[in-house]
Amino acid sequence: MAGIDLSERQKDILDIVKTAGPISGEEIAARLNVSRAALRPYLAILTMSGLLAARPRVGYYFAGKEAKSLFADFFRRYTVGEIKAVPAVVREDTSVYDAIVTLFIEDVGTLFVVDEEGFLQGVVSRKDLLKSAIGSTDLSRIPVAVIMTRMPNIVTVAPDEDMLSAAKKIVDYQIDALPVVKETEKGKLKVIGKVTKTTLARLLAEIDS
Ligand code: ADP
Repeated sequence: MAGIDLSERQKDILDIVKTAGPISGEEIAARLNVSRAALRPYLAILTMSGLLAARPRVGYYFAGKEAKSLFADFFRRYTVGEIKAVPAVVREDTSVYDAIVTLFIEDVGTLFVVDEEGFLQGVVSRKDLLKSAIGSTDLSRIPVAVIMTRMPNIVTVAPDEDMLSAAKKIVDYQIDALPVVKETEKGKLKVIGKVTKTTLARLLAEIDS
């Protein structure tokens, strides 16, 4: 086995077990053209590391986690409450013109529309604002309440949900942003943050830090 380092050999074994498992130690050794004794330390390490598992009279099978499920685990580790960003909010009587200005000033793509007590009433996105601008009526006379997507059709997320759940909502509902809300006794929703595609990208970038 001179010239073949451990990781190469380990990869070969993993490939065999992934495609042909469950498979006996003898069969793996035969396929690699090595003795059962030479294979034993490699199998021991792979088993101890959790990549392979063995069952008597069944053989070795792949037990390691795929990258996909590692990503899911990563996003599940964080709650929305600890990752959420600061939301940009406007009142229902804000004009479409002022909402567009707010979008630039706050450097965001979505505005959450709230009443005077800060309770969620609706959402306006970039395209909602562009659509109303195409009409070329006086944008300073139209309140955002007229063009917003409104309650109860708003998809929200709670601070104790995990980030995987937030990511799934963004994908399933094909939206850019979710308001993070706390429900009051009266069933009203207080906006306390947001999770956006940017929030998800930032979290993903942390994998490397
Ligand atoms: P854009 O329209 O700029 O592509 P989105 O994809 O986020 O941005 O929005 C698509 C539509 O969904 C818009 O009409 C918007 O009002 C609505 N929307 C955005 N966020 C939400 C949300 N959290 N819940 C329900 N509807 C939303």
